[in-house]
Amino acid sequence: MYPSAAVTAAAAITDPAPGRDMRSLLPDELAKWIAATGAPGYRGEQIFRWLHSRGIQTVDEMTNVPPTLRAALEREHPLVPLTQAALQTARDGTRKLGFRTHDGRNIESVLIPDDDPARNKLTLCISSQVGCAIDCQFCATATLGFGRNLTAGEIVAQVYRATTLAERRPTNLVFMGMGEPLHNFDNVARALTLLEHQWGAAFSPRRLTVSTAGLVPGIEKLGALTPNPNLAISLNATTDDVRTRIMPINKKWPIAALLDAARRYPLSHGRRVTFEYVLLAGVNDADADADRLPRLLKGIPSKINLIPWNPFQGPQFERPSAERIRTFQERLRAADMAVYIRTPRGDDIDAACGQLAARELVSIKTGTPEGSPSPPATGVVGQSPPAPHAIDTQR
Ligand code: SAH
Repeated sequence: MYPSAAVTAAAAITDPAPGRDMRSLLPDELAKWIAATGAPGYRGEQIFRWLHSRGIQTVDEMTNVPPTLRAALEREHPLVPLTQAALQTARDGTRKLGFRTHDGRNIESVLIPDDDPARNKLTLCISSQVGCAIDCQFCATATLGFGRNLTAGEIVAQVYRATTLAERRPTNLVFMGMGEPLHNFDNVARALTLLEHQWGAAFSPRRLTVSTAGLVPGIEKLGALTPNPNLAISLNATTDDVRTRIMPINKKWPIAALLDAARRYPLSHGRRVTFEYVLLAGVNDADADADRLPRLLKGIPSKINLIPWNPFQGPQFERPSAERIRTFQERLRAADMAVYIRTPRGDDIDAACGQLAARELVSIKTGTPEGSPSPPATGVVGQSPPAPHAIDTQR
């Protein structure tokens, strides 16, 4: 066991400033605060735009807002910093951003350009928690244990920092970084609202995907949001036996209950549920699995992302051979499933699915740190786990 896992329960803190950090405020909350100060109503929109469209990092940047109002706002609703502490660029152009939270935790986001530049797609994979409590056996983040939930402000700040770095807004956001988004439902839902708002980054909900290890009540709540984002489910097995072994959460919500929830998820025209399936040699990659999968997903508008397991130090899993992966895909294709193989992106900098483990912000073995405003962490902030991501280049 990693030392970090042992400290997490005691070290776990919740929202450092519950409902108070400036970047977490919804427009109507900001409006209420503005009204109480007696300032004109349009200040709310102005401030929201600075925070969520311009992505400013200090209130001093709000040049058209009176300094007294900025100072009063900052006193009651601090602009909690999220410091970019590391940046690594992979050979394929994938960039991993390491952030330090105000209380010294590490989280990571990954910017993934499309492998076909003509599509001009840029996907950002973001974290929703410091670490993760779910304990999937094949995932590096799990080795970190649970640190704490990220606030909505910390979730959206990752997007704004990545936007500045990339000099463009990502086209797609996936909650596939560190953490289980549905374990942090309220903050994730709030972040979605902030990201979709027309005064802010104005993301279409069709460009936002929340990925879950399978928390059934959370899936129901996510589906009830208006608008609701895309849903991705990490299925990863076709029998309860195997799924429980690699994803203990399956004991609580077994495959049948999970797929029932997927079946009920409201999908507007043309949308599908994404099923992620991490391929582990000899565990879940048999022909029998490939044959069971279409039967399980019957009646669910779906697409399957096969993710060959990405190794990290620790667990005794193996990635299946290229031939096994192809055969698995072919069997699914033959059953008329939409099925894609997610080639590992950024694996030379440990930025691929399941490799995010922000124990240290800059890997010393591979990758090139660049442009870091502060020196790499030296293991002081060991409570955070890594996050995996699966990137859908089809959407
Ligand atoms: N907690 C959420 C989001 C993070 S995991 C969830 O479980 O969906 C994002 C995806 O990465 C999941 O589909 C997960 O199954 C996958 N994953 C985790 N570890 C992996 C690894 N080592 N190799 C490949 N994929 C991995």
